[in-house]
Amino acid sequence: MSIIDKALTANRNYAKNYDPALGKRPAPKLAVVTCMDPRLSDLPGILGMPHADLDVIRTGGPAVTEDVLGELVVSTRVLGTREILLLNHTGCGFTTFTDEELNAKLSASTGDASPAPMRFFSYKDPEENTREQIKKVRAHPWIAKDIPVRGFIFDVETGLLSEVHPIRQHATA
Ligand SMILES: [Zn+2]
Repeated sequence: MSIIDKALTANRNYAKNYDPALGKRPAPKLAVVTCMDPRLSDLPGILGMPHADLDVIRTGGPAVTEDVLGELVVSTRVLGTREILLLNHTGCGFTTFTDEELNAKLSASTGDASPAPMRFFSYKDPEENTREQIKKVRAHPWIAKDIPVRGFIFDVETGLLSEVHPIRQHATA
């Protein structure tokens, strides 16, 4: 049986005990942008909040793309989340290659270079990546200035979060 077929079978059982109250319109409190990495999936555990309080946006890295910015605008302006948490992590797969390398590798292994260059948003340093994300989100005119935007790195070995502080810009005369 395929993995998805197994999941469908499990879903029949899930639905038997499903609480229809969960189908009501959600009112999440916190927007979280994090990596697609499965080690970041237990966000209620990592952050000590119920699923219902979290509006989770996931991309590889994570990358704060134009799409992610649009989702954050909807999250804060339409759904009503009140803070934004940018969650990077140690040991991210997206630090193990450059976009150029992966494009070359896939073009060679598939024998088809027509999609290249794809943007994979690979990066090297999670702290620097987090600072860039904070800057990008903070700079968006539709994300209200009174919404806190904070960045963290999740250590996959210890389970601990550490905050990344943006480098202060010195005011120029
Ligand atoms: Zn990752």
